[in-house]
Amino acid sequence: MHGNLANLLESSAERFPDRDAVVLGDNRLSYAQLNAAANQVANLLVSRGVQPGDTVALSCPNLPYFTIVYFGILKAGAAVVPLNVLLKGREVAYHLRDSGATAYFCFEGTPELPIGTEGYAGFGQVEECRHFFVITADPAAASPLEGAEAMGRAMASQPPTFDTVDTDEDDTAVVLYTSGTTGQPKGAELRHRNMLDNAMACGGLFDADAQRQDVYLCVLPLFHSFGQTVIQNTACAFGGTVVMLPRFDAKAALQLMLSTQVTFFAGVPTMYWGLLGALDEGVDVSAIAKNLRIAVSGGAALPVEVHRSFEQRFGITILEGYGLSETSPVASFSRLGQRPRVGSIGLPIEGVQMQLIEPGTWTEITGGPDAVGEIAIKGHNVMKGYLNRPEETAAVMHDGWFRTGDLARRDEDGWYYIVDRSKDMIIRGGYNVYPREIEEVLLTHPAVSLAAVIGVPDERHGEEIKAYVILAKGASATPEELVAWSKEQMAAYKYPRIVQIVDSLPTTATGKILKRKLS
Ligand code: AMP
Repeated sequence: MHGNLANLLESSAERFPDRDAVVLGDNRLSYAQLNAAANQVANLLVSRGVQPGDTVALSCPNLPYFTIVYFGILKAGAAVVPLNVLLKGREVAYHLRDSGATAYFCFEGTPELPIGTEGYAGFGQVEECRHFFVITADPAAASPLEGAEAMGRAMASQPPTFDTVDTDEDDTAVVLYTSGTTGQPKGAELRHRNMLDNAMACGGLFDADAQRQDVYLCVLPLFHSFGQTVIQNTACAFGGTVVMLPRFDAKAALQLMLSTQVTFFAGVPTMYWGLLGALDEGVDVSAIAKNLRIAVSGGAALPVEVHRSFEQRFGITILEGYGLSETSPVASFSRLGQRPRVGSIGLPIEGVQMQLIEPGTWTEITGGPDAVGEIAIKGHNVMKGYLNRPEETAAVMHDGWFRTGDLARRDEDGWYYIVDRSKDMIIRGGYNVYPREIEEVLLTHPAVSLAAVIGVPDERHGEEIKAYVILAKGASATPEELVAWSKEQMAAYKYPRIVQIVDSLPTTATGKILKRKLS
């Protein structure tokens, strides 16, 4: 399948109009209804002057609205810029400006899903972003904010049919914000072809079949590439049903798995850890296991113990995959029907090559199964580049290859094993946290002279964020004060929970902070 990524939805709407596409609580949208709603969004955007090639930002938790708006934007020929729903106003403004978004859709939030005014605040700061649609929980509600339209009301008057804009497969479909150690988040530009091929490849890996109609539990945030491709787009491609849970809660997830007969679960390792921890509370594991056909883990290293316990309790082995936002995201996977090798991220997927290179060069490493190199990836999944950042793109791409910053080794049969992340990214509870960004914010505190942020092992979140801080001469601040201040400045998943005030930090000869000496 080629062309516009929205063809996935259109094709399923034609083939299975009455099938449940998205389920949230008692609300169900069939493929025909989902497609019609996406058409209304596309008509709305066109009526407001949004052009093919524009970028449109979307900030929405896992609700049917996310999928409706996502495909509506694509149908209009624009690129979607999914934003992390926990970003605060200052951070939203950065993303709107950096992506050149001409329109912004933001969920209004409820007490349970607090996007609220923080998320909106970014809009007011960015002049070029001309259209602001508030996604209200009640589709008939008026806009809660001046200068914004209520999406539900605005789209109600739009026709439910739309001729999808004929995009080129190399046009940008999605701009996913990510970062290395190089500071501010940057947008990975993914083509329609990248995203389409990755969803189709996932279908092959998981033996998805339109006749089988898998039921996917969607607890991974849809603004991240893992949930977007592996759940939403794969389900749409194969006429599956996506059961949404706006916020991961292990007990609620287990209940939903039972009540909706989930056949497909995908999560980051901490979610598996959470599910196992919630099993004691009278959960009928065998009833869940009876339906569960596929369990997928990715995004971070899956602890062997968690893998084994899950297999023991559910009688199903977890397929571990690996990838990055820049690779749409899936690059490698263990294979269905083959015994996974403990700690392995599997083999490259079809149409994708992986290589181990000397970090800092593009030379393939030589050596046996113990030789460690940086993973480089080439194939249909590799992004166009970072939006408006030729230098940063050139630093990671060469002759079609993309360097990942992840160190790995490869066994005799070609299975890959992640050894470490060479970048300093911290993954806290499945969210990527970038130390440099936090350091920059800490440095805006008048009492902070130098800061170094690292991840420290944490049983609950995988990693916790710790900041080492050197105070400015004559200034005083306690660790508690700095934690409380950070909480005000940054999204909840980002701010350091531990601050240690020190007199000096270890450095290299060139003066770079030696983070590996910190713990
Ligand atoms: P993101 O761009 O948010 O998708 O994050 C990509 C990063 O997540 C990779 O560069 C890896 O460091 C990490 N990652 C993804 N999958 C795995 C895995 N299966 N095992 C270990 N690390 C992983």
